[in-house]
Amino acid sequence: MLITNGNVVTMETPNRILSGGALLVEGGRIADLGPSAEMEAAYPEAQRLDAAGRLVMPGLICAHTHFYGAFARGMALGGEPATNFPEILEKLWWRLDKALWPDDVHYSALVCLVDAIRHGTTTLIDHHASQKHIAGSLDQIAHAVEQAGVRACLCYEVTDRDGEQAARAGITENVRFIRRTRARQLEGDLRLGAAFGLHASLTLSEATLETCAELGRQMGTGFHLHVAEDKADQRDSLRRSGLRVVERLAKAGILGPQTIAAHCVHVDRIETEILLDSGTMVVHNARSNMNNAVGTADLRWMLKIGIPVGLGNDGFSNNMFTEMAVAYLAQKQASGDPRTLPADQVVQMAWDHNARIGRAFFPGLGPQFGQLAKGAPADLILVDYDPPTPLDAGNLPWHIIFGMDGSRIDSTIVGGQVLMRHRQLLTLDEAEIMAKARELADNLWRRV
Ligand SMILES: [Zn+2]
Repeated sequence: MLITNGNVVTMETPNRILSGGALLVEGGRIADLGPSAEMEAAYPEAQRLDAAGRLVMPGLICAHTHFYGAFARGMALGGEPATNFPEILEKLWWRLDKALWPDDVHYSALVCLVDAIRHGTTTLIDHHASQKHIAGSLDQIAHAVEQAGVRACLCYEVTDRDGEQAARAGITENVRFIRRTRARQLEGDLRLGAAFGLHASLTLSEATLETCAELGRQMGTGFHLHVAEDKADQRDSLRRSGLRVVERLAKAGILGPQTIAAHCVHVDRIETEILLDSGTMVVHNARSNMNNAVGTADLRWMLKIGIPVGLGNDGFSNNMFTEMAVAYLAQKQASGDPRTLPADQVVQMAWDHNARIGRAFFPGLGPQFGQLAKGAPADLILVDYDPPTPLDAGNLPWHIIFGMDGSRIDSTIVGGQVLMRHRQLLTLDEAEIMAKARELADNLWRRV
């Protein structure tokens, strides 16, 4: 396939924009790129896809999400509203995840994947919980991912909050899925990845942490967990172990260059040094942090010392353009300094850092994953954007924050497969998925 007449944003370092550019896609990867006229002459036989002057950009990556939360949209909980983060977990998420049946898990994922394709998010890193249906739950999500055609890294959140048996089942589900996924990746199937999921320090015993760390070591797999999202996590860790959360996790052997620490809102300077030294990847989720009123992560510091902080949505919409804009604004508001987190840093988090995080779970995608370059996976989006002011590689980040949005995505392509063309979904039946989801959600709400 030859994608012609695009303004190709390569997202390399340094970034380039090839105006009137074309990309040749072969075997799911970018085989060549250059000026459209030259490429059309060089590859006369290739099937054409006309970008018609749109921006062609690498697809977005969401580095932390929860597909299972999709049916919470509009759900009434009754009773007194939650007054703090632990109450939000108890009154909302831990009631919801216990009420999920396998079909709910599958359709929650499909709902999120429709949203992802529509907004140009082509790779997602999910963190799943369905405490009454643990065994096989990751297969329900994997099936949805395969139907959609995106890439996703899945894991099950191990927790001690529902007793020993559920914790053991969570561990077994991770091990099973990691082995299955690794075998598939070795055969060349790079749609699915796997991490070892853990909920958070505040619901994990020393014994469970030790067991998981040992299994992770044996399998050579990193972890995906919530870290110091709220002050409650620090209070609990100090009470339990006399250590702060990051110190406790480091001692247990959970941190490392393949581990995602989501949030890190309440980490001190020593903890950020430990995250840096261990190579742990941090994922920021601005909308979720604001919604839960847990505080604001010190991105300025973490980025300054060199932690590759990425961006997730923690279950909010898969419109990563909104997530970027909110992160940009929230950091300024919270710091009282308009110099905090300039647009180029947000864009670096969303593309460069998120690609680095993605590669930890999809090593086969190669070093150019997240860029439009020869040899890179053909994960790309066409964006309707006719700029009212001059646009170049240097000022692109400000156009992204102030002018672009996920609603402007015209086409979404993953591994060379077109998932959406002119806003028409080609792999998923949106109307059928939403109708079935409403029916399932209605039943789920009665159970909750
Ligand atoms: Zn989360």
